[in-house]
Amino acid sequence: MLKTVSSLKHSGKSIGFVPTLGALHDGHLSLIKKAKKENDIVVVSVFVNRLQFRKMAFLNYPRNLKGDAAIAKKAGADILFAPSEKQIYPNGFSAQVVLPNLFKALKSQKLSWHYKGVLIVVMKLFNIVNPTRAYFGLKDPHQFALIKKMVDDFNMQVKICGCPTVRGRDRLALSSRNALLSGQEKKAAKAIYRALVFAKTEMKKNGAKSATSALAGMKKMLKKEAPAVQLDYAEIADAKTLEPLWGKSKEALVFVAAFVGGKRLTDNIRLNLRQRRKQH
Ligand code: AMP
Repeated sequence: MLKTVSSLKHSGKSIGFVPTLGALHDGHLSLIKKAKKENDIVVVSVFVNRLQFRKMAFLNYPRNLKGDAAIAKKAGADILFAPSEKQIYPNGFSAQVVLPNLFKALKSQKLSWHYKGVLIVVMKLFNIVNPTRAYFGLKDPHQFALIKKMVDDFNMQVKICGCPTVRGRDRLALSSRNALLSGQEKKAAKAIYRALVFAKTEMKKNGAKSATSALAGMKKMLKKEAPAVQLDYAEIADAKTLEPLWGKSKEALVFVAAFVGGKRLTDNIRLNLRQRRKQH
C-alpha cells in the first residue's frame, strides 16, 4: 500500500480515501462516489477495528470482504485496502491519540474508549494511505468532529470531507444495524428522525436560546410516540466543539442515540445558526 500510494502521488495523482468497517451499504457508497468525483484514485479500506468495539460487538460484526470488494469496485473504488489485525496492531503496539477538550465534551456519552480506538486507527490509516482527501459520514458527527480536530492539531496534510447522511425511503438513517431490526422495530425507529426534525423546527423558529426546551420537547415526543424506543443519549451541541451552544456557534448538532429492540441506533440533524442569525 505504501509503495502503491507513493508512486501514485509521485506521478501527481490525487487520492480520495474512504475508511470503513465493511458491510457496505448505500451510505458508504455515497462517500465512495463523492471521492471518485473529486479525486484521481479512490482507496476504500475495510478493517474491523477491535479497539472501537466491545468484545461481543466485535465478534458479531458482519464480515463479507468479497461482497464488499465487488460493491466498492462498482461504486468506483480503485483500490481496496483490507489489512490484517497483525499488520495494524503488531505485538507491542501501544500508541494513543487523545484530544482532552473534545473528550471532556463527550464525557456524558461514556464512549471515550470507543473514540480513542477510532482515532488510533484513523491516524494509522492516514499515515499508510497518505490521502489527499478523506471522506466521512456526518451520520457519525462526534467521530467527524474528533477527526477534523486531530488533523488540525497535528497539521496532517489531508482534507476532511463530510458527507450528508443517506436515509432509506422511511427516512431511517442507513446503518448496518438496520438489517437486525424487525418490521415493528423499524416502524418504531422512525420516531427518531421525527423527533430530530421537531427539535430543528423549534430552534429554527426560536433560535439557539431554545435549545434546552427543544431538547426536552424531543425527549418527551419520543417517549410518547414510540415507547419501544429507549433513549440512551440526546444532546443539542455546537457541531464543531461538541460543547453547549453559545453566542458564536455556527452550527448546531441535534443528536439522538437510542435502543430499539436492544439495537443501538444513532441519528442526527444539523442547523446552520449563521443563516438564521442573518435572517433576523
Ligand atoms: P462504518 O463502516 O460504519 O465505520 O462507516 C464508514 C463511513 O461511512 C463513516 O464515515 C460513516 O459515517 C459513513 N456512513 C455510515 N452510514 C452512513 C449513512 N447512512 N450516510 C452517510 N454516511 C454513512
